[in-house]
Amino acid sequence: MRIAMIGTGYVGLVSGACFADFGHRVCCIDKDAAKIDGLNAGVLPIWEPGLEALVKANVERGRLTFSKELPEGVENAEAVFIAVGTPARRGDGHADLTFVFNAVRELAKVIKPGTVVVTKSTVPVGTGDEIERILRDEGVTDVSVASNPEFLREGAAIADFKHPDRIVVGAEDDRAQEVLKEIYRPLFLNRAPILFTGRRTAELTKYAANAFLAVKISFINEIADLCEAVDADVQDVARGIGLDNRIGPKFLHAGPGYGGSCFPKDTLALLQTADSAGVDQRIVRTTVEVNDDRKANMVERVSRALGGDLKGKRVAVLGLAFKPNTDDMREAPSIPLVNALVERGADVSAFDPVAREQAEKIFDNIEFAADAYAAAAEADALVIVTEWDEFRALDLEKIAQSLRGKVLVDLRNVYDREEAEGAGLSYYGIGRGKLASA
Ligand code: NAD
Repeated sequence: MRIAMIGTGYVGLVSGACFADFGHRVCCIDKDAAKIDGLNAGVLPIWEPGLEALVKANVERGRLTFSKELPEGVENAEAVFIAVGTPARRGDGHADLTFVFNAVRELAKVIKPGTVVVTKSTVPVGTGDEIERILRDEGVTDVSVASNPEFLREGAAIADFKHPDRIVVGAEDDRAQEVLKEIYRPLFLNRAPILFTGRRTAELTKYAANAFLAVKISFINEIADLCEAVDADVQDVARGIGLDNRIGPKFLHAGPGYGGSCFPKDTLALLQTADSAGVDQRIVRTTVEVNDDRKANMVERVSRALGGDLKGKRVAVLGLAFKPNTDDMREAPSIPLVNALVERGADVSAFDPVAREQAEKIFDNIEFAADAYAAAAEADALVIVTEWDEFRALDLEKIAQSLRGKVLVDLRNVYDREEAEGAGLSYYGIGRGKLASA
């Protein structure tokens, strides 16, 4: 199949490279000239495990190309995917569809009859209807509009795309169904479940999935708070409930609250959809509040571990990206924490294995260290914010020697208390008995 991908970000580039790897011919389009120039020169705009090799291999096979020009990129495409950003609109949290609709208007000028337009961006219920209306108003006829929301996770994006738990296709006509079936044929043959449904249902399914995962995270975070009050261990509670098949073990890790480019904005957008429909979603609304409060309150844990006053203290922060294996800093829990530490008079030295470049755009008031041990040098406390693998294997005795104050605040429960105390550190985890909260 000949495929055009409008938007070459995390989702567009991964999807485009994987479709090319399935054997399709793909052109990834982006308005950001620097991004396309970089890709044409072999430089990737994002850090994602395995992506560089996958892109290179498919460029060399002649199946993956890049373009700044939408008309050139969509020429002869049988399917045009839209994978542009849908950030939260400032003020009300509604999904901002400006990028989507601008792309559709541009597309309307060049699209050929018979093409299938597919939204891969996360878009509110009814966006497909609106796209159809825009195309009709621009005089475009005989084009199908389908929804194919993306469920990949940054950091494991290629594996997720190639071995998905499911593929959701919302299509209102046979042609769209057939084209998407053909595009995903290699996965179909691998028996990946494909759910064909209505377009509006597919659009809502994506939001329901992300909202549910956000609820699960906030639920275990609240249980962690309770564990600290009643001297129980959230790790064991999570295991104890997660082994129940009806619950499952994933997304039950207590921590500093969820961040990233999806959960925060998608929960807000779902609430806007619910509001417009006049149907309250109390669970999701509360989840958003719980998570916002949690992220804002992480600084208190560091402060308490340091005796209640951060002024003049030096705090080493390990991990800035919103999760491991990505350089994505969007809505990262590190942002409110680091800002609050600095506001309260602490000096921050931070280290992240790959997100430094992105983090430098956000923080201009902290030091960036070359590794975890350099960050710890002469600090009063070390705070683990993102659970990169390399932070799971630190030489804690060496860390203790580097630190001025012997305090480890482990917001990801990477270490055990015994292990940390054995190295001479005071340990403050999340939800791990009474002492954990200091
Ligand atoms: P991104 O910001 O990384 O990339 C979007 C790209 O679209 C940018 O490079 C931008 O320059 C480009 N763009 C915008 N308007 C354009 C236009 N008219 N023509 C060409 N290019 C244009 O965003 P992302 O993280 O890839 O997310 C894209 C969508 O996928 C969002 O709706 C998001 O919610 C959804 N999604 C993201 C993830 C994820 O993990 N990042 C996972 C699933 C779904």
